Amino acid sequence: MSFSSLPGSFSSSSSSVHLLQPYGWDADREAEFVPFARQGLLPGRVVRVDRGLCDVITPVGTVRADTEFVVPRDPMKVVCTGDWVAVDPEGSSPRYVRTLLPRRTAFVRSTSSKRSEGQVLATNIDHVVICVSLAAELDLGRIERFLALAMSCSTGEALLHNAADSWESGARPVVVLTKADLVPDAVTLSYLVQDVETAAPGVPVLAVSAATGDGIDVLAAVAAGGTSVLLGQSGAGKSTLANALIGEDVMDVQATRDVDGKGRHTTTTRNLLALPGGGVLIDTPGLRGVGLWDAQTGVGQVFAEIEELAGRCRFHDCAHTAEPGCAVLAALDSGELPERRLDSYRKLMRENQWIVAKTDARARAELRRDWKRKGAEGKAAMEAKRGRWA
Ligand code: GDP
Ligand code: ZN
Repeated sequence: MSFSSLPGSFSSSSSSVHLLQPYGWDADREAEFVPFARQGLLPGRVVRVDRGLCDVITPVGTVRADTEFVVPRDPMKVVCTGDWVAVDPEGSSPRYVRTLLPRRTAFVRSTSSKRSEGQVLATNIDHVVICVSLAAELDLGRIERFLALAMSCSTGEALLHNAADSWESGARPVVVLTKADLVPDAVTLSYLVQDVETAAPGVPVLAVSAATGDGIDVLAAVAAGGTSVLLGQSGAGKSTLANALIGEDVMDVQATRDVDGKGRHTTTTRNLLALPGGGVLIDTPGLRGVGLWDAQTGVGQVFAEIEELAGRCRFHDCAHTAEPGCAVLAALDSGELPERRLDSYRKLMRENQWIVAKTDARARAELRRDWKRKGAEGKAAMEAKRGRWA
């Protein structure tokens, strides 16, 4: 359909549904937007944000809008790729983003700085696709950490202080084992998939090969159900997978829109794309840079069976080391709980303590005291040794 066939002023709500549907617009969004439609504003989804300006896909094509109007003090509420917004209609100059529709999920990275706020990398995500290369030996611990990261997005827990928004539905993680063509045979491949399934209970695990096309249709079907982001280490095959999902036609369609009426060409990067098989893919440099240390919440969900066992320990504050009546240690003894799994859990909990400490002054002070005490003990031990040998 050609955009020039649209009425000049956007009034019919059904046309917005029609044209934004490939970008995830649905009946709920439509309902949320009613008051803004009455004001003559256009609905749209943010493709990218760049120094206060953003590209927004609207029923009249991709437009450039200034976010100055909705600049909040809370960095969590800064307009971000994936957001649904209301923008000024055609003919407004400059054109502003007037409001941010409620986010259903948000992918937040905890900042490494001393400020406790995170940085929102992408919003309204339904699937977090964790890409793991089969070209290297599987590192289940790493997969668990990426899962914890994905879970923090799904629950929005990292954003609890952002109480104005509600986080009713979450993003679902999917583990995609890439480069399956490098695994010599199908039996080995099925064992690898099973291994990963043990580290990711309840999480779908797919093996795909962009080289042969195997499994790409399954992934495309998953991606068709909403908005996806790709996570994974550099070299995991994310770009290749994105290309396989995107195909050439979509890229061509995206590249030729210039409808902001200023004769300026709107370059559309691949930050947010409607997939030909349905669904939306968000792939931003920020998401690419997400490190494992960003996993902040979600550990409990990744290790749900351990948390469940822990609930049955005799002592409420059981550390599962040597306590009597410890259900976790009992499961370890019986073989029900693999030792590797408990080790991973402990490691992640320790790291979490560190991440929390980074953002929580009181916890930080406690840790510092702890280190000081340990440091003093270590020093005393060293001096004792030295004394002995002096
Ligand atoms: P990214 O850093 O996660 O985006 O990874 P890339 O998509 O750039 O892929 C890294 C390398 O893996 C490249 O050399 C790709 O050609 C290779 N690769 C990606 N997918 C496949 C695959 O399905 N099979 C094989 N054999 N190699 C692949
Ligand atoms: Zn215990």
